[in-house]
Amino acid sequence: MAHYDRLFIGGEWQAPQDGELIESIDPSTAEPWAEVALGGPADIDLAVAAARDAFAGPWRKMPAWERAGILRNLAELYRAEAPRLAEIETRDCGRAIRETRMDVGAHSQWYHWFASLADKSEGRTIPIDESVHAFTSKVPIGVVGAVTPWNAPLLTACWKVGTALAAGCTIVLKPSEFTAATSFELARIAEAAGVPRGVINVVPGRGASAGARLVRHPEVAKISFTGSGVTARRMLLDGADTLKRFTFELGGKAAHIIFADADLEAAINAATSSAWVHCGQACALGSRILVERPIYDRVVEAFRERAGQVRVGMPLDDATHMGPHAHEQQLIKTLSYVDIGRAEGAELIAGGRRIEGALARGYFVEPTVFAGVSNAMRVAREEIFGPVAALIPFDGEEEAIAIANDSDFGLTAGLWTRDVGRALRVSQRIEAGMVWVNAYRYIRWSTPYGGFKLSGWGRENGTDALEAYQETRTTIMSATGAFANPYAA
Ligand code: NAD
Repeated sequence: MAHYDRLFIGGEWQAPQDGELIESIDPSTAEPWAEVALGGPADIDLAVAAARDAFAGPWRKMPAWERAGILRNLAELYRAEAPRLAEIETRDCGRAIRETRMDVGAHSQWYHWFASLADKSEGRTIPIDESVHAFTSKVPIGVVGAVTPWNAPLLTACWKVGTALAAGCTIVLKPSEFTAATSFELARIAEAAGVPRGVINVVPGRGASAGARLVRHPEVAKISFTGSGVTARRMLLDGADTLKRFTFELGGKAAHIIFADADLEAAINAATSSAWVHCGQACALGSRILVERPIYDRVVEAFRERAGQVRVGMPLDDATHMGPHAHEQQLIKTLSYVDIGRAEGAELIAGGRRIEGALARGYFVEPTVFAGVSNAMRVAREEIFGPVAALIPFDGEEEAIAIANDSDFGLTAGLWTRDVGRALRVSQRIEAGMVWVNAYRYIRWSTPYGGFKLSGWGRENGTDALEAYQETRTTIMSATGAFANPYAA
């Protein structure tokens, strides 16, 4: 059993004040594999105080290029530990190791990218007149509360921690109670990299106690949240009294559009892998596959065939394509949507069952495909967060765009066509924060990421990401200092 039984607050590893020790479950066996400390409200208060003191202290005064140097150290230590981090992430979340290695292997590039942004926050000069000068500068917003989900704890922490530190903020990271182990590993790496005490604090905890306290805390200036829309709405209410700033990265129900003129092999490779990646527990995946009618039957057949080729198995096994759900409630949710899809009249052409036999103890489910789906069905409208592909036929560009945009969500979308004009026309009418053309799930540190509509507020990554962690200060200076007495005569 691994032990993560101390919170990381103010540079010290501390037992929870009013939290608890829980067992983290290995989702491939349903057995506990680690003991994990969760913090309560008092622990959040301590962490916020440590972050506030660090913000007021040396971190605030440190030149940006020095902060950048610390982030580079962190990036390099992280790179060296990436294989180990990937194994722990897989153990905790159940994601197949071949996927986790690729994911975690890239995080050091993100930290390098944020390091490169740290000393590039420039202001503007604004002309007024000869004797009055105005300029703006970007200043760090203060203490940031980062709340991360269970499906991708290290990646989502990387985006938030990297940006906050580059901007000069300090941070309290509250990972999900389901998958907190790797956030403690991140704290250990940050400590070794020379991140000053209190700049990063890690307090996993339950949403309703630790999470809510962080959102309500008057000394937390901003919450950067990745998770569900239900939680985001709760946070808006909890943050109202303190007028909290928010960045929200929420759910998705992406349209992955395949036109009849597409490179069909590539499109099917992308569409099948994007439907089942991480057992369907990724916000960016393409769960609505829109297929032009002339090729619809071929694509349906290809999905049926590929579903049978996916090796579902133990996540630490290199041969495994797809691991289990990260926790039991998610498995139950996915299976309930299989029933919903059937009841709505969609045709289940592959999967749909929990896996029995050697994998019966874990939260494994078969890669699942529904054909004959209409966009009005719940399996096409609601985020399932399971490996469930919904294949929807369409006729022509206009209908593809209409179906793609007929969604509450707008995080990502993809389209496949060999017609350059169509690629441009369609991509520019899709209501989504990220549109891939003849590509899918290509996410880089340098490209802004975030959603339209119910998929969120704001963007992470790219050169603009820092702005969400900064305030703009406008300074207006008079060269003469003259100020007439308005009450004279
Ligand atoms: P969730 O909203 O249930 O939980 C996310 C985090 O919020 C957890 O740390 C949880 O403890 C915390 N939380 C819950 N209630 C809270 C409250 N009242 N106050 C403060 N914190 C609270 O989401 P989840 O089930 O962990 O994650 C799945 C969701 O995340 C999906 O909707 C998925 O699409 C979304 N997601 C989005 C992205 C993206 O980049 N857009 C990435 C990954 C996941």
